[in-house]
Amino acid sequence: MSNEKTNFNIAIDGPAGAGKSTIARKIASKLGFIYVDTGAMYRAMALYFLRNHIDPSDQAEIEASCKDVEITIEYKDGEQFVILNGENVNGLIRTEEVGNMASATSVHRAVRLKLVELQQELARKESVVMDGRDIGTYVLPNADLKIYLTASVEERARRRWSELKAKGIEADLKEIEKDIEDRDYRDMNREFAPLKQAEDAIFLDSSDLTIDEVVDKIMEYYYKTR
Ligand code: C5P
Repeated sequence: MSNEKTNFNIAIDGPAGAGKSTIARKIASKLGFIYVDTGAMYRAMALYFLRNHIDPSDQAEIEASCKDVEITIEYKDGEQFVILNGENVNGLIRTEEVGNMASATSVHRAVRLKLVELQQELARKESVVMDGRDIGTYVLPNADLKIYLTASVEERARRRWSELKAKGIEADLKEIEKDIEDRDYRDMNREFAPLKQAEDAIFLDSSDLTIDEVVDKIMEYYYKTR
């Protein structure tokens, strides 16, 4: 087996609403890399748990049902499709209900181990921009460039509120803020592979930056690292 490494992998981690997916997608498109949205995989698992009325706090039930779930990924025109037991679920995983279930069930080791293997395999095969919570620390500890992207809770809540409003959904800003704080807490305090900045990650606060400014900064780091 050759150890020769030709892929360049970029890990982007950070809390909910920091702008990771928008930014990761743009960087991947500029570089011709594959964009891997790991949150979508946790969301697909969550959809399965919701459909099967599985209690997110029941570890034994979660572990047992993980065996019945098969998640795969397909790409069409650069877009990632998540396949749950043969069904393309992209159109079903962006709801608040699925997001909350994903946040609650991603704390379980069995859920994470199932998806980490798939994520590592994708990065072995291709140059990727992968976003998530534990990419730089756990999934791809040897990633070539690691970014920890964050923003204040207020700014992240405001962004989510605007996104919902654009979709015609009225939401309460304070409730969104509370939800974001809860998700941060669960992500940062779970026992297995919690969200934290990798020692060798570059810290970027996007609170006062536009999307393009963040993209430009990451592109600069890429050209310095390459
Ligand atoms: O990023 P997104 O909101 O789609 O992720 C859904 C949930 O999946 C998050 O709230 C987080 O708890 C979990 N997640 C994770 N590890 C990842 C990606 C997402 O725990 N690498």
